[in-house]
Amino acid sequence: MLKVIDSAVPVACWSCSVAHNDVTLFCPHCSKIQPPPGGDYFSVFGLEERLDLDLAALEHEFHRLSRKVHPDRFARSGDNERQWSLADTALLNDAYRTLKDPLHRTEYLLKLRGAEIGEEHSGKDRKDPSRVPADLLEEVFELNMQLEEMRTAHKMGEEDPDLQASLEQAKRKFDGLEQEVDQDLRKQWQLWDNGDAAARKAAEKTMVALLDRRRYLSNLVRDVTETLGAE
Ligand SMILES: [Zn+2]
Repeated sequence: MLKVIDSAVPVACWSCSVAHNDVTLFCPHCSKIQPPPGGDYFSVFGLEERLDLDLAALEHEFHRLSRKVHPDRFARSGDNERQWSLADTALLNDAYRTLKDPLHRTEYLLKLRGAEIGEEHSGKDRKDPSRVPADLLEEVFELNMQLEEMRTAHKMGEEDPDLQASLEQAKRKFDGLEQEVDQDLRKQWQLWDNGDAAARKAAEKTMVALLDRRRYLSNLVRDVTETLGAE
């Protein structure tokens, strides 16, 4: 993961010595490739931090830059330039993979803003009742019982069509809740992208909670799918 630094750190070009900001892959003065930039994934593509991205433009810029730093173009360059073209290629791939995915992009931006997010902050044991979203407590309790029943039935080699149907229905319901979270996230994107500092702080808090809820729901759906698929 990249270190977040002020995007306007001036550095001298190794080749022509003219100063430029440490966010560009190439010297604006002499066009020589530079050591991998120290900014965040957004600045790699010359973008402001924002959540509602123009994905077609991002993809276009990714391909354009990838061609420019492609290691084949530096086969006969010095050791440093060859190393940098490899490092830049890896950086571009990581940055593109992260930014093109709506959830990864949201999580990445929240981390840049100092949010504590992800599995390591939400506890591993999702059966811990304190972690179940309050509005789902009852259903999750019910679902866990049914999952246990289903696993037992599988072990005994028994079929239980009613239980099967009930679990399939639960899966559809939690799938739907996941989609609701995605819609809520997109609303928060707008608030964050267009908001002042206070609005952004509020949106960040909401998005951290939404991502937690989403992770919880998708673990649940995965459990149900695995249990249904087990023979
Ligand atoms: Zn230069």
